[in-house]
Amino acid sequence: MSISEQLFERAKRVIPGGVNSPVRAFQAVGGNPRFIAHAEKEMITDVDGNTYIDYIGSWGPMILGHNHPAIKAAAMEAAEKGLSFGASCPAEVEMAELICEMVPSVELIRMVNSGTEAVMSALRVARGYTGKSKVIKFEGCYHGHSDGMLVKAGSGVMTSGVPDSAGVPEGCARDTLTAVYNDMDSVRKLFLECPGEIAAVIVEPVAANMGVVAPRKGFLEELRQVCTEQGALLIFDEVITGFRLGFDGAQGYYGIEPDMTTFGKIIGAGMPVGAYGGRRDIMEMVAPVGNVYQAGTLSGNPVAMAAGLAQLRILKNHPEIYRDMNEMGEYFRRELLGIVSRSGAPCQVNGVGSLSCLFFTNEPVTDYRSAKTADVNAFGEYFRYLLSHGIYAAPSQFEAVFMSSVHTKEDVDKTLSVIEEYWKK
Ligand code: PMP
Repeated sequence: MSISEQLFERAKRVIPGGVNSPVRAFQAVGGNPRFIAHAEKEMITDVDGNTYIDYIGSWGPMILGHNHPAIKAAAMEAAEKGLSFGASCPAEVEMAELICEMVPSVELIRMVNSGTEAVMSALRVARGYTGKSKVIKFEGCYHGHSDGMLVKAGSGVMTSGVPDSAGVPEGCARDTLTAVYNDMDSVRKLFLECPGEIAAVIVEPVAANMGVVAPRKGFLEELRQVCTEQGALLIFDEVITGFRLGFDGAQGYYGIEPDMTTFGKIIGAGMPVGAYGGRRDIMEMVAPVGNVYQAGTLSGNPVAMAAGLAQLRILKNHPEIYRDMNEMGEYFRRELLGIVSRSGAPCQVNGVGSLSCLFFTNEPVTDYRSAKTADVNAFGEYFRYLLSHGIYAAPSQFEAVFMSSVHTKEDVDKTLSVIEEYWKK
């Protein structure tokens, strides 16, 4: 038995399913989850000493690679001064200033500890601001695991085949309306059915939790327009896209200004961080200025802020990182498409910038329904082949391939040659 296998057996005795987040259990793909010992740049090493090229990057934040020296030094320097104060610290102010400077739609921002919290809080503010109770989300988009967002959610919810979670009160689910990604008619229909009741539309501007699905041309623009007409707030959930597609996230990439934005793990460089922000008049609803309550003992934690700031400062000072990382993503997809065409594999190559996805289906994937046509067993076999050849991809068909800025052309070419061999075998 490998050390990973032994650890998994022990974990299953004391942790539900042996994991602290469902997708880590490899349930959808088979095989034993790897327990990670350490990671450096684009490489990750398990407890048995196997090293892999890592395309998860902690699900997005490791834009500069694992264990970046400047980020590590910043976190360690902060840790020397105390792990948590439960009081304000200078780094929180610097973080807020930096985000407000780089993302023009964000005038005020509040730190929290995860993407889930960021979304949950943003929705409360949207409801408080508009005085309305319903929200529209899109099928297959994942916005964390708060009650109201576990309706037709993507990511692990989609992977495990649980359509909606048990334990979500009917009342919570009732206020979540779901529309079809990339389909404005489905959005307009909901506004017609519930006039004056919709507080907000929340969207992943690039859907990255049902695999990767790009917004069709005009989709985000039309969403912006309809929200403005209807007096609903447009919330971009940029937990994956913020500071990844570019410094100003998907909103900069596509040139759309949302009313509110949620951020997550990327702004903590891997530390537990999230944030929500937006227009000043909306964010002034938040206590202690306004009467929407939201709080957090560890919010703005000095070590997390120091690590996140170190990453964001490097990104700010080196905009070429985005150019190169996005180009590497495009190169990967171009070559992958060539392999798929040559092998005749029934697959689709999707992606935007450094986010990619290989769907095991004949159908173009533009929404949840088409994503669900993917053959998850075929994906599982492909995943296990890659893993056994030193490539660590997300253990689910419905997640992204995350390129970092330190993946080299050699890494990507090696990955492509393993994929090509897979179809030749
Ligand atoms: N929103 C999006 C778009 C996400 O991808 C995720 C998780 N990957 C979340 C929210 C929830 O973030 P967290 O896991 O930090 O709670």
